[in-house]
Amino acid sequence: NLTQKLSQSFRNLRGQGRLSEDNIRDALRDVRMALLEADVALPVVKDFIQAVRERALGEEVTRSLTPGQVFIKIVHDELVALMGATNDRLDLQVRPPAVILLAGLQGSGKTTTAAKLALWLTEREKKRVLLVSTDVYRPAAMDQLRNLGRDIGVEVFPSDPSQAPLTIARDALAEAQRKVMDVLIVDTAGRLHVDEEMMREAKDLAAVVQPAELLFVVDAMTGQDAVNTAKAFDAALPLTGVILTKADGDARGGAALSIRAVTGKPIKFIGVGEKVRKGLEPFHPDRMASRILGMGDIVSLVEQVQQDVDQEQAQRMTEKLRKGKGFDLEDFREQLRQLERMGGMASLMDKLPGMGELSAEAQSALADQKPMRRLEAIINSMTPQERRHPEIIKASRRRRIAAGSGTTVTEVNRLLKQFEMMQKMFKKMGKGGKGLGRLLGMNP
Ligand code: GDP
Ligand code: MG
Repeated sequence: NLTQKLSQSFRNLRGQGRLSEDNIRDALRDVRMALLEADVALPVVKDFIQAVRERALGEEVTRSLTPGQVFIKIVHDELVALMGATNDRLDLQVRPPAVILLAGLQGSGKTTTAAKLALWLTEREKKRVLLVSTDVYRPAAMDQLRNLGRDIGVEVFPSDPSQAPLTIARDALAEAQRKVMDVLIVDTAGRLHVDEEMMREAKDLAAVVQPAELLFVVDAMTGQDAVNTAKAFDAALPLTGVILTKADGDARGGAALSIRAVTGKPIKFIGVGEKVRKGLEPFHPDRMASRILGMGDIVSLVEQVQQDVDQEQAQRMTEKLRKGKGFDLEDFREQLRQLERMGGMASLMDKLPGMGELSAEAQSALADQKPMRRLEAIINSMTPQERRHPEIIKASRRRRIAAGSGTTVTEVNRLLKQFEMMQKMFKKMGKGGKGLGRLLGMNP
């Protein structure tokens, strides 16, 4: 899936402080491929890639995150933005009966969706709903709605297929008014392809019933075709929103992205099953974004990525110490960053054998995680030579470092003491190799 691919692209990106044109090239290519494979329209993909590139470039990678995580987050956020950020609810704030008119191609799921919406509104919003079919071309379509209505206990207007769709709609509206219904849902006839006549009929129907919601119903499985159909309907009708059906199928969300981007109309619901009960859900862009990225839960994935990174870093450190190379302040800084990610020294101390034997003073010195950033600032203010050979840091250097890092000499002294302590600990553990891995966050 996309996330796996992205993680792959970022395998070589460790330790780099920012995302650059160079280091995101492969990742962008993977995103592009994945979106195209998910049936997202090419122009939409191009704009999207451009947006991600612009945001990614120069984005500061915070210490506690890897470039890969930051990049995935950007992709996720941009996906959400593309789909409309939040769920748009039905807007039925008009004098009742509020009319919902459904338009779309034949087989897109209009009749099924009409029943699903009726059930949703009666059960969730306690609305009184009347259903009506204006599909006079296929008698079976009217029976279908009548049967669905009976199943869910919602009244269906007894339309006469020998009458014109406009007449049926007008009569149904009058009936809804007479019966003081809250909502009238109008199911319409669709055709297999976009054509003039279908559009004119939908337009005329809209003029007659003045819908509060004119929803375009589209089959998510039709991929690229869905985009072209959406464009045509959006151009011909004053749509207020979209319902994406059959999102329970293999469709990977590409249609959702494209349609929203192409029409600018919010997706209000998705159809997730043939069953009228449980077959309809409000559309949530963030959930769809996670699905497109190919992960159920972006957070858990990001955590996984993070763990992998820490694991490898720990491995490198262990190797280094095993080979007898000394633990210097560069390493100490790296450790501080890692500890910050792992929740501070305090959380580490519990897991560490022998820590209980340290003096209370030493323990609290180690447990103090708040000034970790200050510690890092202190090390940043040292010259590379000082970091590799801390023993040369005498009084005058300490004063300079304190001034340079905006800290005090006392703090610099304390840091050097902590460092010494860790160095000793590492020396001891490094010999046997045991315990070191655990200290560095590796599995025993
Ligand atoms: P219409 O011609 O636009 O009225 O479409 P229908 O409502 O008759 O639906 C066409 C087919 O799609 C039917 O077999 C429905 O059961 C099926 N269908 C509709 N919505 C969904 C959905 O959300 N998921 C699945 N899997 N099937 C659906
Ligand atoms: Mg139908």
